[in-house]
Amino acid sequence: MKPIVKVEGLSVIYNLGKTNEAVAISEVTLDVYPHEYVIIYGPSGCGKSTLLYCLTGLEVPTRGKVLIANNDISQMTPEELVNIRRLWTGIIFQAYNLIPTLSVLDNVTLPQTFGSISTEIKEKKAHELLKQFGIDHLSNKYPNQLSGGQQQRVAIARALTYYPPILIADEPTGNLDSASAEVVMNLLAELNEKRGKTIILVTHNAFHLRYAHRIFYMKDGKIVRVVRNPEKKSATPTNEEERISSEIEALARLYPHLSQVQLQAKALSQYLLTNLTELEIERIEAIVAKRVSGKINRSQFETALNLPFSEGGAGLYVQKAREFASKVEEILAKSEFIQEEVPSVRPLSGLDIKVQEARRYLLEGYDGSLKREEEINRLDHFIRLRMESKINKRQFTRFLDMPFKKGGVGLNRRTARNFTRDLELVLIKYK
Ligand code: ADP
Ligand code: MG
Repeated sequence: MKPIVKVEGLSVIYNLGKTNEAVAISEVTLDVYPHEYVIIYGPSGCGKSTLLYCLTGLEVPTRGKVLIANNDISQMTPEELVNIRRLWTGIIFQAYNLIPTLSVLDNVTLPQTFGSISTEIKEKKAHELLKQFGIDHLSNKYPNQLSGGQQQRVAIARALTYYPPILIADEPTGNLDSASAEVVMNLLAELNEKRGKTIILVTHNAFHLRYAHRIFYMKDGKIVRVVRNPEKKSATPTNEEERISSEIEALARLYPHLSQVQLQAKALSQYLLTNLTELEIERIEAIVAKRVSGKINRSQFETALNLPFSEGGAGLYVQKAREFASKVEEILAKSEFIQEEVPSVRPLSGLDIKVQEARRYLLEGYDGSLKREEEINRLDHFIRLRMESKINKRQFTRFLDMPFKKGGVGLNRRTARNFTRDLELVLIKYK
């Protein structure tokens, strides 16, 4: 098994060569394995924070190196570092570091601001995270209206935005009363046990040590002792998980622009389908991605895998499809990667309602039927474009007539013309 974090001969010396030279950490070497929960424990001033900051690239070491998922972070350009930090690590501080002028929701969506994700998706994701931590009802409040424990839960939600496999926490309970501290510690334990997050936590509270698989004792900038927690089952993953996570590491280097979900879908598909053609794998990846992002449920997933290739499926035999689906589900369950589809609570806009009314009106007099939801969605899409005058009447007919695979609705010529005529009547009515 390969470590997910590797530290080799790391030293940080402040004011090097001056009379006030201060060794913050000295020759630290350690490995952290995927799914492990480790605690760095030691008295104040022993170098714990400095070590953590080196792991995130926020501190540049004087000597030695840090590898995150086999990537030497000292060799990276600032942009690469930002990406690695974003894809692999979530950071939680003692002082929460929330932005006081932003609402809870905006604080959580903030790290996503730099991606190209739509506001709607970002907020949906943020609400999901807040809900999981029992604080979604506070999403419109400001940090100073929350208790310390609530603020720290917001900060953890923020750290999880990009689904990082590693969580790095610097005395996350340092400012909390013992009841709130326990809530936060249990939350982190759950993230480790149920979602397989690797956790590296700094504390000087001895009561917290029982949460970790291993404890690194620090003193005067050095690791003086490593102790395995006999109460916790070793975090050694099975060979299967090991293979997949090393696959993801390799893929992350090949496709630095892909999201964690896309990388997971790719790795799972490749792992389970070693002897299929590229085209087949591509199709399966697309189906797995739908499942991973919660767009289809488990049984639709199995069906899609089994559906003939020509019909958009993966063309796997029933048995193979079932096997594959259950493997994927099993792995996904471990990492809780599926984002459950949350029914939309967004009120329909005036235009949405008009589009739906118009569509019902068109379909009323239609003796054929649109079989799939996608076809209806597409029809709605073109009705909307026409209502917004983004396409003209002729283009509307053409899109309706165009085969579904080419981006149209796939109606026949005559129906397309009838629908166009009827919609034009509707439009006059609305104007
Ligand atoms: P911990 O988190 O374990 O309390 P730190 O990593 O914050 O310890 O600090 C380790 C040592 O490095 C301390 O002795 C501290 O005084 C020193 N130190 C930290 N930052 C600086 C700095 N910017 N300049 C000089 N010394 C520093
Ligand atoms: Mg500190």
